[in-house]
Amino acid sequence: MLEFDLRYRRGEFTLAATARIEAGVTGIVGASGAGKSTLLALLAGLLKPQAGALRFGDETLVDVAAGQFVPPWKRHFGLVFQDGQLFPHLSVRDNLLYGWRRLKPAERRLGFDAVVDLLELRPLVARRPSQLSGGERQRVALGRALLYSPRLLLLDEPLSALDDRLKQQILPFLRRIKQETRVPMLYVTHATAEVDYLADRVLSMRSGRLPAGEEASLR
Ligand code: ADP
Ligand code: MG
Repeated sequence: MLEFDLRYRRGEFTLAATARIEAGVTGIVGASGAGKSTLLALLAGLLKPQAGALRFGDETLVDVAAGQFVPPWKRHFGLVFQDGQLFPHLSVRDNLLYGWRRLKPAERRLGFDAVVDLLELRPLVARRPSQLSGGERQRVALGRALLYSPRLLLLDEPLSALDDRLKQQILPFLRRIKQETRVPMLYVTHATAEVDYLADRVLSMRSGRLPAGEEASLR
């Protein structure tokens, strides 16, 4: 499904990541500073690698040698960060529908009601983000990403800002997303317990290297 061999350097930090990832949920674990967020940004198209290639299915998204770079909005990946990053001036409903409204009707694979039910958001739709708890905010951020009908969901420590009790409340929703939507996910975290619960396979990243332990070299 997703195949990449990427090299990226920023100051002292060098990333060298090579993997071939099948559908389902893939966990990427590593300590803080290992380069997990940098890798997701490269996959999302928010950063450009200095060398390498990235393919999704039979589509080439990046090929540095060939001068090819598909911009983020044409990759059609969903992103969820640690702090949700909801639009504060919009209601929950308008936050949820933000990406959905920008899709052509034929591209919409999930409907508003289905996602609201899946994540139990009904009582929240009229509120503003400032009127939500941290856990509710993350559920809305997940809902917004799903309503964009992504081909791949990139999750960057989506539970890290929550306390243990809230984590336990949200993990079953993530499992539900996995089982009911079948959207492939890359789940990045330093918390091994989360990926043990959720992921079909786990890759580990260390000092900018994926797989961990291989020599990073910038060609
Ligand atoms: P992780 O997500 O695994 O904690 P990051 O990808 O955020 O790791 O960071 C990898 C390395 O890049 C770290 O050494 C970090 O200090 C550095 N780094 C992260 N963001 C920036 C940035 N915007 N500018 C410069 N260096 C950065
Ligand atoms: Mg990070």
